[in-house]
Amino acid sequence: AEIAMYAAKEAGRDLRVFDSTLDDGTPRRLALVAELRDALRQSELVVYYQPKVRLDDEEIAGVEALVRWHHPTRGIVGPDDFIPLAERSGLIEPLTGVVLESSLRQCRAWLDEGKHVPVAVNISVRALLDPGFVEQVARVLERTGVAPAMLTLELTESSVMSDLPRCMGTLHQLVASGVRISVDDFGTGWSSLSQLRHLPASEVKIDKSFILAMATDEHDIAVVGAIVKLAHDLGKRVVAEGIEDKLTWRKLADLGCDVAQGFFLSRPLPPERLAAWMRENAL
Ligand code: C2E
Ligand code: CA
Ligand code: CA
Ligand code: CA
Repeated sequence: AEIAMYAAKEAGRDLRVFDSTLDDGTPRRLALVAELRDALRQSELVVYYQPKVRLDDEEIAGVEALVRWHHPTRGIVGPDDFIPLAERSGLIEPLTGVVLESSLRQCRAWLDEGKHVPVAVNISVRALLDPGFVEQVARVLERTGVAPAMLTLELTESSVMSDLPRCMGTLHQLVASGVRISVDDFGTGWSSLSQLRHLPASEVKIDKSFILAMATDEHDIAVVGAIVKLAHDLGKRVVAEGIEDKLTWRKLADLGCDVAQGFFLSRPLPPERLAAWMRENAL
């Protein structure tokens, strides 16, 4: 049943385990917050990794860390079902800490095996407003002995653009420390494309909503082509997420996109299964 639930979610069907529209303070919501707090304490949060592969030479460019909740009775719960709750209940800071710590430990373990695998971690914009965040990232990097350039922080376009003035200082401090910034879900926000030049980001990730139907939709191809060109003109690397077939992979290569991520290559996997995937693909 756990696997079926997960499969249904991955297939994009609307399966809501937790209703994130619940009002603050309702008993049910408070119970869920308590459950999530316990989950953080009892290490029920597990990080999966999805490979990012370069379109030109098909080498691994890194992995994205995607958190899952291995719930004792509900099975594997996806992040869309608890990240919003964590954001509204003050649990996103400890959650981010857990994901950063596990991802960088994993990165260290790969380095010790001779594998150079940069990691990307999703960050809620709230983290950038937290005065201790830059220091927190520096401490985890130091503790694990991972070079800052091996860490990319993915920030969603809509969130970062809406609070740009307040985020700018933190973004510049992170970049000065050697950490990389990626603008996630690019194309879905309301900001103008030209705002991108104000962000100290080295990477743009085109949202999967533009990629999923690209093989058959000329308009999506036009949008993706325009984003690739703009990002390159601004000196940024372009990643496309949501590649589910070979034809889309080829079209993205034709458009000059740099890196691809999606089920066509691999689903997000627990670390041991990702290691097997890397061996099978001689990476
Ligand atoms: P995202 O950052 O846009 O991550 C990409 C999502 O697309 C992931 O969903 C991934 O499993 C899915 N995906 C990858 N390839 C394909 C594909 O070929 N086709 C389709 N249909 N989907 C694909 P996931 O893992 O459920 O994560 C959902 C969102 O939750 C993420 O979206 C991210 O915004 C958030 N999230 C995940 N982990 C964390 C975390 O540690 N911290 C925070 N703050 N947010 C997280
Ligand atoms: Ca992401
Ligand atoms: Ca996305
Ligand atoms: Ca997202």
